[in-house]
Amino acid sequence: MAVSCFLSSSLKPRLLLKGDEQWRSCFAPNIRPFHLRLSSNTRVQASTADSRAIEIPNQWYNLIADLPVKPPPYLNPKTFEPVKPEDLWPLFPDELIRQEVSNERFIDIPDEVIDVYGLWRPTPLIRAKRLEKLLDTPARIYYKYEGVSPAGSHKPNTAVPQVWYNAKEGVKNVVTETGAGQWGSSLAFACSLFGLNCEVWQVRASYDQKPYRKLMMQTWGAKVHPSPSTVTEAGRMLLEKDPSSPGSLGIAISEAVEVAAGNPDTKYCLGSVLNHVLMHQTVIGEECIKQMEAIGETPDVIIGCTGGGSNFGGLAFPFIREKMSGAMSPIIRAVEPAACPSLTKGVFAYDYGDTAGMTPLMKMHTLGHDFIPDPIHAGGLRYHGMAPLISHVHELGYMETLAIAQNECFEGALKFARTEGLIPAPEPAHAIAATIREALRCRETGESKVLLMAMCGHGHFDLPAYDKYLNGGLVDLSFSQDKIDLSLANIPQRI
Ligand SMILES: *Cc1c(COP(=O)(O)O)cnc(C)c1O
Repeated sequence: MAVSCFLSSSLKPRLLLKGDEQWRSCFAPNIRPFHLRLSSNTRVQASTADSRAIEIPNQWYNLIADLPVKPPPYLNPKTFEPVKPEDLWPLFPDELIRQEVSNERFIDIPDEVIDVYGLWRPTPLIRAKRLEKLLDTPARIYYKYEGVSPAGSHKPNTAVPQVWYNAKEGVKNVVTETGAGQWGSSLAFACSLFGLNCEVWQVRASYDQKPYRKLMMQTWGAKVHPSPSTVTEAGRMLLEKDPSSPGSLGIAISEAVEVAAGNPDTKYCLGSVLNHVLMHQTVIGEECIKQMEAIGETPDVIIGCTGGGSNFGGLAFPFIREKMSGAMSPIIRAVEPAACPSLTKGVFAYDYGDTAGMTPLMKMHTLGHDFIPDPIHAGGLRYHGMAPLISHVHELGYMETLAIAQNECFEGALKFARTEGLIPAPEPAHAIAATIREALRCRETGESKVLLMAMCGHGHFDLPAYDKYLNGGLVDLSFSQDKIDLSLANIPQRI
């Protein structure tokens, strides 16, 4: 094991090796995973068990550059022509539009963003030895843990650069939607760092049931509306039809987009789905490649949960690049909830990103833009569509998909909490359940596969869901084909 240590005598960090005299003077013999600050924007993580010192990557990876077939363009919802950059001007700053359509392989991460990443990155890569033991599996299970960020999930990885580019271009206000509150709290956190005003439309059901994420957003200075709200035309129309509507992500997106489109000093931010969002999240996979290299492991199976696809793509895309280059050959597997199965039961077609049909049309796996999923606890996985880039990668045959019902996910989450200690959010509980399935298969076959799982957030604000599970009140809400057929009939056109 090697760790870096800042030596006051020299301005450069030096790599110290175990056994080296200075190594002992630097650290107590019984080292636990911890972070060392080296300079204002460099941090390394040292850990006895898992990885040697690695640095925060200084570039994001753009998978599109390496794909043999480029993804289909977004279409203007009025003309059905490919979207032009100027169509997006009312919603996004120039740099994010440039990144959205970029064919460059790597994009530099601004120093200011790396500096903020340094608050929690590099994130730990941990071997789940105790879970392996419980499962009595020859598989080696690793998880990359993003719950160490201030908001408790991977979402600040994109919230910070999105807000930073907006700030740099003089934008004063940003608006967004949030389901369970993970994205809204991440954006509120980022806005508090760079002095922007933040307004969030939170899906009514979670606004009422999950007051703590709302309070986090307010603590970081954001203004929070329940959605549907009376503040927007889209919200008022919905409330007229259904005054007690529990809301949905699609509805909340319509509200935020309407406000951004109608106010020149206000831009819109999205927490998943778009190319630039998935690209920002590749900081996870880039770090993980270096961490696995450092411990001499190569993943055989990579597993992540998919709502809009950003934590999954963030971990998997850099590994897909390595797979395409022939350096390794992991199976890449996405897990979604049985109650909102866009990848496994949706159609691959052009559809709107929101309920009111204001966003560009995107070719993606979709259940229909007015599909309102049952209120499962994994709020972050209740989106009718899937990232167009994930959908495209799936069509190209680079990944597998499966859907799991929520009771099995919570069963897995409890096993994980009781062996590894961390209480997972209900979303990564889907990845945990799929990883357990794979580990048990390894027990049957005797294969000692290396399983790598995206553990994208903690569940400290999801304890009511655990309450339900522990007290036997959690039902498996599986999809209803009739309901899906109804909403699929409203997809604008199939190209
Ligand atoms: C938002 C969220 C998700 C779902 O979004 P993706 O873009 O699919 O990653 C999953 N897990 C957590 C913890 C989230 O906050």
